[in-house]
Amino acid sequence: MALIDNHGRTINYLRLAVTDRCNLRCNYCMPSEGIAFAKNHSLLTLDELERVSRILVDLGIDKIRITGGEPFVRKDLMQLLEGLTQMEGLKDISITTNATLIGPHIDRLKALGIRNINVSLDAINKATFERITRRKQFDIVHNNLIRLITEGFNVRINFIVLENQNEQDIIPILKVMKHYNVSVRFLEEMPFNGGTKSFKGIKWNHKAILEHVREYFPDLYKLESPATSTSINYKIPRHTGTFGIIPSFTRTFCGSCNRLRVTATGDVITCLYGKPKANLRDLVRESEDDSEVKTLMNEVIGQRAKTGFEAQEEHAKTIFNNSMTSIGG
Ligand code: SAM
Ligand code: SF4
Repeated sequence: MALIDNHGRTINYLRLAVTDRCNLRCNYCMPSEGIAFAKNHSLLTLDELERVSRILVDLGIDKIRITGGEPFVRKDLMQLLEGLTQMEGLKDISITTNATLIGPHIDRLKALGIRNINVSLDAINKATFERITRRKQFDIVHNNLIRLITEGFNVRINFIVLENQNEQDIIPILKVMKHYNVSVRFLEEMPFNGGTKSFKGIKWNHKAILEHVREYFPDLYKLESPATSTSINYKIPRHTGTFGIIPSFTRTFCGSCNRLRVTATGDVITCLYGKPKANLRDLVRESEDDSEVKTLMNEVIGQRAKTGFEAQEEHAKTIFNNSMTSIGG
């Protein structure tokens, strides 16, 4: 079975947010006081997360990225991962994490064969990290990151370039990571809660980021990337890993978008820039019958916006008042 949208795009990738809670307060993601977190009973339970995943895998999803909030604040996360690794038809499970709490789980993740871990790290300077995240967790994140890389995980660092906050760390992070097999991906900031709060423009768009890196590393060159990749990837000669740029704000990737998002409360988001199109929680709570969820999913996938710019129109002239901690990035 395959999920194919009204523009002929096959949807095989689910980003599943397992919580909206987080132990950091990154200033581009959340206000310092946090957001109005969902009530416990509105979050999908472990069984519901498994069931929703199972139904979506039946429909054609073969890749699930676990995100949040911070996925590891959820005490039953490893149980969910164990369940997902047994799921027939699911080929790839990956995690996006701030790497503060992953340490005790690294051995088990390895044993489960979960290798693809994205670590969000927006600074290589401790003071800058603490300013952005509003928490003192740099050393633990740094240690866990290096451990993940040296233990052979396929690690990608997500670094959002923030005007007047961390641009001075762009070159240093590439230098520090020079001998590690890791991909450092620089992201354009999106105007969500706590961040720049406007769609008018950002200074650090993908061109500005690339030119900045090129000034220091003039012999960098572009790599071939898979069609569904959101990042444009580059290699700096003599660096073990690679780096990439994700144009989240300028969006050049919509034509090949293969992704679907389900939030921790069961909202279905068919485009990151649009509004939720359905909610699965009540449906799975009311009925044991999976066919209703399948019908609903086919319906919403059949009405997807063609591009993020089109989807964004739904927000009329307002800014997004949602936080990435609810949507999952
Ligand atoms: N807590 C985990 C983490 O930080 O990796 C997972 C959830 S976080 C919401 C997922 C991704 O969204 C992170 O890579 C984060 O950097 C990104 N993100 C959050 N707010 C963003 C924003 N305003 N613009 C672009 N990316 C954002
Ligand atoms: Fe937490 Fe991730 Fe948001 Fe930072 S980006 S506040 S780590 S959810």
